[in-house]
Amino acid sequence: MASAAPHVMVLPFPAQGHVTPLMELSHRLVDHGFQVTFVCTEPIHALVLNALRRDDENSDAMPGIRLVSIPDGLADGDDRRDLCKFLDGVSRRIPGYVEELIRETGVKWLVGDANMGLCFEVAKKLGVLVACVWPASGAGLGTLLRVPQLIQDGFFDDKGFPKRTGAFELFPNVPPMYTSHMPWSIDGATEGQEVSFRLVSRNTQATSLAEIVVCNSFLDAETAAFELFPDIVPIGPLCADQELRKPVGQLLPEDTRCLAWLDAHPDSSVVYVAFGSFAVFDPRQFRELAEGLELTGRPFLWVVRPDFTSGGLGKAWFDEFPSRVAGNGNGMVVNWCPQQQVLAHRAVACFVSHCGWNSTMEGVRNGVPILCWPYFVDQFANRSYVCDIWRTGLAVAPGDDGVVTKEEVNTKLEQIIGDQGIAERARVLKDAARRSVSVGGSSYQNFKKFVSLLSE
Ligand code: UDP
Repeated sequence: MASAAPHVMVLPFPAQGHVTPLMELSHRLVDHGFQVTFVCTEPIHALVLNALRRDDENSDAMPGIRLVSIPDGLADGDDRRDLCKFLDGVSRRIPGYVEELIRETGVKWLVGDANMGLCFEVAKKLGVLVACVWPASGAGLGTLLRVPQLIQDGFFDDKGFPKRTGAFELFPNVPPMYTSHMPWSIDGATEGQEVSFRLVSRNTQATSLAEIVVCNSFLDAETAAFELFPDIVPIGPLCADQELRKPVGQLLPEDTRCLAWLDAHPDSSVVYVAFGSFAVFDPRQFRELAEGLELTGRPFLWVVRPDFTSGGLGKAWFDEFPSRVAGNGNGMVVNWCPQQQVLAHRAVACFVSHCGWNSTMEGVRNGVPILCWPYFVDQFANRSYVCDIWRTGLAVAPGDDGVVTKEEVNTKLEQIIGDQGIAERARVLKDAARRSVSVGGSSYQNFKKFVSLLSE
C-alpha cells in the first residue's frame, strides 16, 4: 500500500513579503509529494482568498495546499498597521493558536518562518520537528545571530537601541550593518522598539531549535555570507513554478492588464516601479517621483498601492495623472501587479525598487538592473548587495532635506539604462541564479536534502 503523502504545516509571518516565499516553497513541496497545511492569520487569510477569487483562472490552482487561518491576537477594530500593537498581539497569542492547530492536524513537521520563532517552542514541546525558513538574505540572518556580540561590542544597548550611528562593515564582502535599520527598527514609540527587539531576539534564538535553517538566496549571490554562516542553507531563488502560473499568495488582487500593455512595448524599453507592500511616500516625495518618471519620456509601469502615499494629494491627482500618462501612451499606474511576470517580461528595462529581499531576488533572477530606493530595515543592506557587491544597479541619492528630486530620478534612470557594464553583470548574475536552481546546482542540491529530511 502506498504511504500517505508527508504532511507539513507551513507558517509564514503575516505579511506579503513572507507569505509569498513560503507559498512558493509550499508549491515546491507539493511537487515533491507533500501535503501542505498553510497557516495564515485571519485578516491575511481573507485577503489571500479574496485575491485568489478575483483571479478566476487560478482559483483552483492550489492542489495539495490547504489554506487555514488562526486569529492574529488583535481585536476587530485594532489598527494592524500599528506595528507595535501588531507585534505584541502576534507574540502573545499566536503560539497558543498554533499549538492547538498542531494538535488537531497531527503534523510531524512545522516549516516555519524564522520570524515566527516563538511557535518553534510550542512545536518542540509537542514533539514536532521544525524546519526554519529565513525569507531574506543569508547576511541578514548572520548579522542577527551576532547581535549578542554586537551588544557587547557597544553597537547597541541591551534593548536594541543604537549606541553608534552609521554603517559598519562586520565582514568583508557582506553588506554593512546599518545600526538604525535593524529588523527591529520601527518608527514609533520607544516601547514599540523594545517589543520589537525582544521579539526579534527571541525569534533569532529559536532558530537553534530547528533541524535545518533554509533561506531564499543562492550561493553565488552571497558567497562570503554562506562561508561565514555555513548552517544557513540557501535554496533559492524560490519560485512557485517555472511558468509563473501558480498563485503566490497575493494580498491584493493583481491587475493583469499591465501584461498586455507590456506586450505592446519594444524590448528593454519600460521602467518598472514598485516599492513592495509596506513603503509609504509622503506627498512631496510622491509628486517628485511622478514628475521624474514623466521627465524621462520613457514608458513606465508604476505600482501605486491604495495606501502608498500618506494623503495630501487628493482624489483630483489620482483622477488626473494616471489617465493623462495613459493617454500619452507612456505610463500605466496600477494598484498591484503580477510582479514576477512583469520582471520576466522582455519589455522591462529596469526596476525602481525599495529592495525588499523578494523584489531583489526577483530582479536578480530576471537579470533586470535595479535602481535602489530603500525604505527601511534590511532594504539598505540589500541596496549594498546591488550597488557595491554585485554592481547590478545604482541607488537614488536624496538631497539634504531627505527628498529625492525629479531631476535625480531622471538622471539615475538615464544612467542605469545606458550602462552596459551593469546590464552585463545583471545577466551574469541571472545565469548564476538559474544555474543554482537547475539540476545539479547548489540550491537544487540543498533543496533535495531539505526534502529528504522532511520525508524521514
Ligand atoms: N509584488 C507584487 N506586485 C506588486 C508589488 C509587489 O506581486 O505590484 C510582490 C513582489 O513580487 C514581492 C512582494 O510583493 O514578492 C514584496 O516583497 P518584498 O520582500 O520585495 O517587499 P516587502 O513587501 O516585504 O516590503
